[in-house]
Amino acid sequence: MRRTASLRGLVRETQLAPGRLVEPIFVSEAAGATAAGREPVAAMPGVDRVSVAVAVEQARTAADLGIAGVLLFGVPTDKDAEGSGAWEPDGVVQLTVGAIKQAVPELVVMTDVCLCEYTDHGHCGVLRSDGVVDNDATLELLARVASSHARAGADLVAPSDMMDGRVGAIRAELDSDGYTDVGILAYSAKFASAFYGPFREAAGSTPAFGDRRSYQLDPANGQEAIREALLDVQEGADMVMVKPALAYGDLIHAIKDATGLPVAAYNVSGEYAMVKAAAAAGYLDERQAVTEILTSLHRAGADLVISYHAADAARWLAQ
Ligand SMILES: [Zn+2]
Repeated sequence: MRRTASLRGLVRETQLAPGRLVEPIFVSEAAGATAAGREPVAAMPGVDRVSVAVAVEQARTAADLGIAGVLLFGVPTDKDAEGSGAWEPDGVVQLTVGAIKQAVPELVVMTDVCLCEYTDHGHCGVLRSDGVVDNDATLELLARVASSHARAGADLVAPSDMMDGRVGAIRAELDSDGYTDVGILAYSAKFASAFYGPFREAAGSTPAFGDRRSYQLDPANGQEAIREALLDVQEGADMVMVKPALAYGDLIHAIKDATGLPVAAYNVSGEYAMVKAAAAAGYLDERQAVTEILTSLHRAGADLVISYHAADAARWLAQ
């Protein structure tokens, strides 16, 4: 059964397809002020922070390659304690959603909903006077952010903060604001991970003090990750996510089984950077390694994969 390429193709259990990939895009106000509309991210070769116009170009390229959707992150210039830039109607994400929806209406537009790129302390929620994240006070703000993305035209909002109860709060706000058709992709099993390092440079979201272990999951806990996903389902999530992906295949599988919902795997910045660095050093073949990684995530049970390699993978698949 493995003798020829045709035989192997005939019995291959897992197929890669661009229509199951999502490309993350960092839209930055500072990049918008540069001539090229781009600022490179040092730890992620090939990934830039981009202006609204370049984000639209990238979205169009993604759609031409057959990629299903984009996931937008905003990188504002001004930050404050509440992260109020996150719900500005003319914020960088809101403007980009509108521009992409106009230029490439068939593309699924997802938006990251969090405060960490917008707060001057870099945490995912507002802080109490003792410096601890105030879970319940944060919910109202996240709901405000999600509703502003829906108003701009987002198809799906994706809360990544890991506050308890945020999916329910966002669902209630979207419904009461009339956005009943806007779905929620919940970052349900988001682990406190070393693999986010390059992203924090890209998004300018490194916490000014402490870390995120008081709200993100302990990498040692699988049962808790499943409970988190089930809670999000109860609160109204339409899709659930496991993040990071590569070290969490067991949970992609378990959460798919437990929820029956579409499951997204986020092939994160550190996973991308590892492959890039090893390929640049001549230690790995990038194309083969990426193909194997993406295939393994689908084999584990992911319906869609969010990856910085999405455009490369789509090009390779077309060859
Ligand atoms: Zn965050």
